[in-house]
Amino acid sequence: MSDVDAEPRVRIDGVGKRYEGANGPVQALSSISFSVREGEFVCIVGPSGCGKTTLFRIIAGLEPPTSGSVYLDGDRVDGPGPDLGLVFQEYHLFPWHTVAGNVGFGLEQQGVADTERERRVRELLELVGLDGFADTYPRDLSGGMKQRVALARALAVDPGLLLMDEPFGAVDAQTKKMLQDELLDIWRETGKTILFVTHDVEEAVKLADRVVVMAKDPGRIRAVVDVDIERPRSRSDGTFSDTYQQLLALIEG
Ligand code: ADP
Repeated sequence: MSDVDAEPRVRIDGVGKRYEGANGPVQALSSISFSVREGEFVCIVGPSGCGKTTLFRIIAGLEPPTSGSVYLDGDRVDGPGPDLGLVFQEYHLFPWHTVAGNVGFGLEQQGVADTERERRVRELLELVGLDGFADTYPRDLSGGMKQRVALARALAVDPGLLLMDEPFGAVDAQTKKMLQDELLDIWRETGKTILFVTHDVEEAVKLADRVVVMAKDPGRIRAVVDVDIERPRSRSDGTFSDTYQQLLALIEG
């Protein structure tokens, strides 16, 4: 089978979502279709209320669509599955577990033996730059460090897709830039497929191979833009700001 015919890692096929709101029905998503190839880094951007969170939850199997389907490696998503690594803005770490306990949680659930689990946790902590913090509790970590733990935890079970919802939305600008660079390094090192939701256009230009631009009322795809800029990317490059302006114009409609 050639690459062109290969089943994409993620296929979103005509997804729609309608909520029964207090003031009548809300069409949160309408006819969303796009695919993400293996190893690709795709960002979803759009204004507040365009359905980014709703789409994230549907892809993650946390909520059913009212029409259409999501396929992971050709299998229809009908609930949360083990082949997904989820990272949220709010970390969602277990406060009563150490860093190692948090990162190893999924492996423990899968019944991975202690020594193997400890080895994998050590590797993952090294990957996210947290070696030496295995026995620390989340309350003693900065926001950036908590998000590194969340990322290591998501990667622990070696998921086919890393699904990230505004993961760097709660940290300061400098930490955000550092985490973006680290995520790109990890992506290169692991070859993971990443689908990354953000409202930050600059972040999307810095990270993505392709950007899915959404519009609202109803939530829909306005355009899919290839970001053909060599990495590492710098916002001072002309092509960077051209792409940024192009995306901004699309978002502002
Ligand atoms: P975004 O993440 O892009 O800000 P959301 O997915 O949160 O967008 O919301 C998309 C639309 O769906 C908005 O109009 C929002 O008010 C509506 N919506 C989201 N969740 C619900 C819900 N549980 N019940 C009713 N309406 C909802």
